[in-house]
Amino acid sequence: MDKIRGILIGRMQPVHNGHMQVIKRILDEVDEIIIGIGSAQLSHELKDPFTAGERIVMMSQALCEAGVDSSRYYIIPMQDINFNAIWVSHVKMLTPPFSIVYSGNSLVKQLFSEEGYEVRQPPLYDRLHLSGTEVRKRILEDSNWQELVPEATVNLINEIDGIERLKNLSIKEISDI
Ligand code: NAD
Repeated sequence: MDKIRGILIGRMQPVHNGHMQVIKRILDEVDEIIIGIGSAQLSHELKDPFTAGERIVMMSQALCEAGVDSSRYYIIPMQDINFNAIWVSHVKMLTPPFSIVYSGNSLVKQLFSEEGYEVRQPPLYDRLHLSGTEVRKRILEDSNWQELVPEATVNLINEIDGIERLKNLSIKEISDI
C-alpha cells in the first residue's frame, strides 16, 4: 500500500515546542511527514534571524531528542517565490508526493485547497506563548525563552551566539529607522 504523506511548512524562526507537538500529532495520522523550512532564503533579520541550515539542525536534533523515527520525516528547505499562484507547484517540485497539507496559515491553506489538496488545520498548542514571535521577544528581553523550545533549539542558538545576533539585529533595525 502507498504511504500516506502529509506536509507542514513553517518559517520555524526558531523551532519551538508548538511545532514539535503538532509534528507528533500529525505523525499519528500519516505514515510520513514532510517538514518544509519556509522562507529559506531569509536570515539575519529581526523576524527571520536564523539561516535555513540552522533551522534544519534545530529541527533534526529536536526530532531525534523526541525519539521520532528518522525514516518517517523529510526536512526540506524552501525559498519563497514572488508568485503565490504557482507556489504550490514550486513546493511540489521540491518534495516527495504528499496528499494532506497541515497548516494554520490562511494563505497556505487557501493556495493548497485551490489546487485540490486536502487541507487540515491542526490544533494550536498554547499559541499565546508557543510562537516564534514570543520566543524572539523573550530572547531580546532576557526572559525565559528556553522553556518554550526544545533543548536542540537552545543548544543551536547558544552554539551560534544567536542571542547576540538577535540583539545586534534589533540595534541595527532601530538605527535604520
Ligand atoms: P510558522 O512557523 O509560524 O508556523 C508553521 C505551522 O506550524 C503553522 O501553520 C501551524 O500549523 C504550526 N504551529 C505554529 N505554532 C504552533 C502552535 N503553538 N501549536 C500548534 N501548531 C503550531 O510559519 P508560517 O508563517 O505559517 O510559514 C509559512 C511559510 O510558507 C512561510 O515561510 C511563507 O513565506 C511560505 N509561503 C510562501 C509563499 C510564496 O513563496 N509565494 C506563499 C505562501 C506561503
